[in-house]
Amino acid sequence: TYEWSQDVQNTLKNVFHIESFRPKQLGAINSTLSGQHAIVVMPTGAGKSLCYQLPALVKPGLTVVVSPLISLMEDQVRSLTNRCIPAKLITSTGSKEESSIALDILKDNESEIKLIYVTPERFAKSKRFMANLQKCYADGRLQRIAIDEVHCCSQWGHDFRPDYKYLGILSNMFPNVPILGLTATATASVLTDVQKILNIPGCLVIKSTFNRPNLFYKILEKPTSQEECVTILEKLLNGRYKGESGIIYTNSIKDSEDITKELRKRGLRVGCYHANLDASTRTQVHLKWHDKYYQAIVATVAFGMGIDKSDVRFVIHHTISKSMENYYQESGRAGRDGLRAECVTMYRMQDVFKVSTMVFSSSGGLEHLYGMVKYCLNGTQCRRLLIAEHFDETWGDADCNKMCDVCCHPVSNAKEVNLKPHCKTL
Ligand code: ADP
Ligand code: MG
Ligand code: ZN
Repeated sequence: TYEWSQDVQNTLKNVFHIESFRPKQLGAINSTLSGQHAIVVMPTGAGKSLCYQLPALVKPGLTVVVSPLISLMEDQVRSLTNRCIPAKLITSTGSKEESSIALDILKDNESEIKLIYVTPERFAKSKRFMANLQKCYADGRLQRIAIDEVHCCSQWGHDFRPDYKYLGILSNMFPNVPILGLTATATASVLTDVQKILNIPGCLVIKSTFNRPNLFYKILEKPTSQEECVTILEKLLNGRYKGESGIIYTNSIKDSEDITKELRKRGLRVGCYHANLDASTRTQVHLKWHDKYYQAIVATVAFGMGIDKSDVRFVIHHTISKSMENYYQESGRAGRDGLRAECVTMYRMQDVFKVSTMVFSSSGGLEHLYGMVKYCLNGTQCRRLLIAEHFDETWGDADCNKMCDVCCHPVSNAKEVNLKPHCKTL
């Protein structure tokens, strides 16, 4: 135990109203409270935010949280405020006055604010922000710097954001202020790169398992014609997944609209979601799905952020994702409640070409796509094993528990390496 252990437990129960920690959360919290630099690697939804939100409350001073998206930060600030935790967001989108107030918190010794959220470009583009942050540090109030989605530093990752590279100055500029990076990207090359860019080589890496034992993974052979594809989806929605909630991911706005239309013609209640819809329509669609009016949402990957539905029973990929990383994240929206859910990917060769033109220009794009193709083409190895490999983990055979199509039908698989649907029941 540490001097703060009792405070940590009390804060968990009384402020966050959570009974117990999930794996690795307490370890991450203790190491950052000890003043060590650390990177926390946990799958999406595992609860990374708590690893910096809770420590922020058990020690005096201010925690600065860097995050790439305003909408994510708004969500967090809202939910903290609801829990009576004083938090603020510094934006450039609000009024001058608003951002001025937020900025002044940094140099105000009397401020009660515990967490302040900023986007990474602040560190490069706002002299006033940096001056105030310097003052905060000089006053001994800069408790910790948390960098969410820290993989965005690295060009090897799937979501490189140039502004993140400015964060490299922090460890020199503010010695003794622990940096806590958080990400769901676990590949060794990205993690090493991130440590290099942040100037915290060899820092502690705290990683929880990426195994989601309640998710069943399977591949279906995808027909050439859209009509036949829709028939498969129709059968799944009316059969195996009748009365259950799910998501169907497509790779274009047009596909999502077409498939929605076709499924509706066949009497299914589905909603369509993509980036070209206005905000209120998107909220409507989301709500109708949430309330089970829509059985499924046919969406592009724009549907993702802020999905808090725990009983998603199926995630079907009508087209392959552009990387295993993306696939894991998209399919991982299934089964958050811990009950069995299925992750189905419809695979055909011609989609690989389609997706490859989309990823061609990004660094490592084709390589990432190849990982996804390998996962689909595989007919003899446990799919979970391939996922584990991707996240640099080793899961034993026993860890699958027949929760993938390959392990489920080993005999037919040996004969049908050529991508026949493994589980014949639709
Ligand atoms: P991540 O950033 O890893 O994707 P979040 O921090 O957004 O995940 O947390 C996902 C959800 O899990 C949140 O609703 C959060 O309140 C909840 N959560 C976090 N830790 C716990 C816990 N120990 N017990 C129960 N719920 C938790
Ligand atoms: Mg998060
Ligand atoms: Zn398996």
